[in-house]
Amino acid sequence: MEKKGILTVVSGFSGAGKGTVMKELLRRYPSRYALSISATTRKPREGETNGIEYFFLTTEEFEKMIAEDELLEYARYVEHCYGTPKAYVEKQLQAGKDVILEIEIQGALKIKEKFPDALLLFISPPSAAELKRRLVNRGTEEMHVIEARLKRAEEESCGIENYDYFVINDKLSDCVEEIHAIVGCERSRVSRNADLIYNIREELSGISKGE
Ligand code: 5GP
Repeated sequence: MEKKGILTVVSGFSGAGKGTVMKELLRRYPSRYALSISATTRKPREGETNGIEYFFLTTEEFEKMIAEDELLEYARYVEHCYGTPKAYVEKQLQAGKDVILEIEIQGALKIKEKFPDALLLFISPPSAAELKRRLVNRGTEEMHVIEARLKRAEEESCGIENYDYFVINDKLSDCVEEIHAIVGCERSRVSRNADLIYNIREELSGISKGE
């Protein structure tokens, strides 16, 4: 029997390197994970492609998805809307994949409310100074956007206690393996294996009775 996958939420300050960590996790373990592709009203950055990093939508298209109940959650972040399309996530979980939602904190809390057994991870750079350095060096945002994102990071830091795990992204490889290990441990949790445990108990009972 295929076990249902784990709904895993990964959040982190803008500039924490979540995108790079997720790409590497999927590159190393392609059959284990599925990365949900969000819908957003923000414009693509250079190098981003519709349907790969995001589904880039107009505000009207985004609102239509909300109206038709096609999003698991959605939130406004700095200047734009972001949301998780429902259909893909449900299909991949049923197929036994651990589905990763790379989303911000408001969305993460909505997911926890709807799916109490979702696993919530928060990724952080080793320090605030390092976060600022990464945002500036990325060179994809203007200074006023970087400042807004740092302000948002300060607010988000107050919500980290709602997460299950806090992972430092200093060395990429270490961070990827730590996340893979955490999700692996979650798979073995007794409460996630109730059906398997029940089946083994039933089989043992049958064997004892000589069936
Ligand atoms: P960015 O514009 O840098 O790609 O993303 C901005 C923030 O939006 C990031 O913290 C990212 O994790 C978050 N985000 C991306 N997709 C979603 C989503 O579907 N839902 C929510 N709530 N946040 C998202």
